[in-house]
Parts: sequence; structure tokens; C-alpha cells
Amino acid sequence: MTVGSLRDAHLRIDLGALQHNIRAQKAQLPANSHILAVVKANAYGCGLDQVAHAALRAGVDGFCVAILDEALDLRNQGINDLALVLGITPVKFARRAAENGVSLAVGSVQWLKEYQELAQKYHIKQPLRVHLALDTGMGRIGFTDVQEFAEAVKLVEAPEFDFEGIFTHFATADSADQDYFHQQFARWQEFMAVVPDKPKYCHVANSAVGMWHHDEIVGNTVRMGMSMYGGNPSGRELQPTLALRPVMSLAARLTFVKQLRAGQSIGYGKTYTAKQDEWIGTLPIGYADGYSRAMQGFYVLINGQRCEIVGRICMDEMMVRLPEKLPEGTLAVFLGWSGDQTITTNDIADYSGTINYEVMTRMSRRLHRQYITKGQGFRY
Ligand SMILES: *Cc1c(COP(=O)(O)O)cnc(C)c1O
Repeated sequence: MTVGSLRDAHLRIDLGALQHNIRAQKAQLPANSHILAVVKANAYGCGLDQVAHAALRAGVDGFCVAILDEALDLRNQGINDLALVLGITPVKFARRAAENGVSLAVGSVQWLKEYQELAQKYHIKQPLRVHLALDTGMGRIGFTDVQEFAEAVKLVEAPEFDFEGIFTHFATADSADQDYFHQQFARWQEFMAVVPDKPKYCHVANSAVGMWHHDEIVGNTVRMGMSMYGGNPSGRELQPTLALRPVMSLAARLTFVKQLRAGQSIGYGKTYTAKQDEWIGTLPIGYADGYSRAMQGFYVLINGQRCEIVGRICMDEMMVRLPEKLPEGTLAVFLGWSGDQTITTNDIADYSGTINYEVMTRMSRRLHRQYITKGQGFRY
């Protein structure tokens, strides 16, 4: 994968802000609680290696990832702390998890039995670290039946397994309406009633639970995702209860500036025509960098002023209308602060019909990630 380090376009990742957010969450939890940093999808686009090391320095107890490959990437980074794969891993790959001390989410008795057979057949020495996943209403993965779950709890006592955790995931913890959250929570308690000896990690909390339900939940662990990156897991519905600092910002410098005469047009499909003479700047970021083509008509910030994105966004470039003639090399902010103006991931999400999670994770690998440790959320 080519990384664009020889163009003036940078995704800045403020690791100091990340560490601030982790400490803010920690301060709100009872002593002896655990924080697992959720670093799936290249750490929400921020970069797995740097984020993982910074999170460890801020005192997290381990990591959650989506797929086994991501956990092995952590191991290749020399990180041997807890690494839990949140999705279901095919049994045929589970040996790699056992051999690398990676923890797997398991949601059926059949999976456990198939793995046990495999482990015996191949004489796998290391016990597989298991977190039993409960579907209390998310409808994605996990045990739905208390009887089957009780059977699994017995099965994981076998020497092939190291029973390390139980978890569930809430569908509406980020919503003002709390009814469904409480239904799911009641279901969690029905499941937990059949577990005589609780494993080390019993976890129900994503960022939203950590933020809006931290005083009412049992469980001793927060799986901290969006809030660690300084985003609001609720979008705009609920206000954050933590003083979060945004970790990600995006800026680029004008590569070309020209005057457009009234009646001349811009870009593919000539969707924008100048009504009067105006100055147009070109920026070296396009939809292949993860800045959605749907952002046409939105704006970037130059010297604290909004400059409209005019014409279609191209794969690798886009054009903006400038307030006046500006020198090539002038900085334009796509995400973050400029003067007293700011553009947030929510602003971009609202405009392009998605959520802040997608805005962050779609930032492509081609964008050079520049790591800073200022801690304030970066101001250009
Ligand atoms: C992604 C994920 C999280 C983290 O969610 P945030 O809203 O970013 O905190 C936690 N738990 C599970 C099971 C997940 O899939």
C-alpha cells in the first residue's frame, strides 16, 4: 500500500488527546475496573501500532479487535497483553489464536466442541482463551439460549480452554430512550445467574455504556472505542459526560490557484459554473483518500474562513472557492480547527449521510498519518 508522504496532505493523530480520553474514562470508573482499548479497523483509522502503544502507556489492560489478523498484528508489534477478537473466528483458524495467546469470542456449543476435537487431534498445547458472547438483544453474535450457555460454561472447564470472560453488546446504549437497554441488561442478568464462578472479565460496556450507564452496570470492564478517539458515540443525541479531546484531524495545502472567469466551469460533469470572476484553489485529497464524494458543496477552512468545495470531488483532488487570491501552499483544514472555526467528524457525517465512526474508519491508508503528542486536539 502506497502512503502519500511526498504530498502536503496529512491525517494528524494526537496521541496525547487519546491518552487524556483514556484517563478521563478511568477517573469515572470504580477502582480496579479494566479498560480494553478497541483498536479494530486500524484503530478507527488512526493507526494500530501507534495507538496501541500510546494506550498502553495510558494504562489500558488490553485490546479488542474485530478479526484474528488484527490481534496477530498486535503480537507482531511485541504487544502481548490481552487481545480479544470480538467477531466469530472460524474454528479452522483458531489454532493460531491459541498459539499466540489471543482470546476469542465464542457463541455456540458446537464451535466449542469442534475446536476441542481439533485441539486433541493436533495436540495443541496452549489452552485457547475464551470469552463467551451473549446475545441479549443486539442480534449479531452470541448465545441466545440460557440452557445452551449453561452447557458452554461447563464445556470451557476442559483443558483445551482458558475461560477468561463473558460479554454482551448493547444496541441502544447511546440513545435517550433507555427501555431497550434495561431489557438487555435484565437478560444479561438471567444469563449470569447460571454462572457459578465468574471469569476474570465480565464486560458489557462499550463507550456509550461507559459514558451514560457507568454507575448502574455490573461488570468490571469497559471496551473503549469511539470515546477513546474523542468522538461522541451518540453522534448528537446525548451530550458526552467526559471532557473528550478529538484525536484525528485532516489538512492539506493548496497545490494550484487560478482565477475562473464568469461562466467557466469546474470538474467532471461541469456541475459548478462561476457566476462572477472568482479564485479557485486545488487540494490534493480526493475520495480515494476516504473523503467522500458526497461532500461536494461542503467546505474546508482556510485561515478560519469557510471555503466551499466546488465541482465534483475527484478521486485524488478537489477544488474549493477562495475568498481572494491565496498563495499555493496555503493550509486548508478538512477536519479540526482553523482560527476559531472547527469541523468535526459529526459535521462531515451529517453532510454525507453517515455517522462519525464511518468518517474515521474510511480515511484510507494512502493518507500519511502524522503522530503528535500535544494532547489538546490539534490546532493548526
Ligand atoms: C466496536 C465494538 C465496541 C466499541 O464500540 P464503541 O462504540 O466505539 O465504544 C465495543 N464492543 C463491541 C462488541 C464492538 O463490536
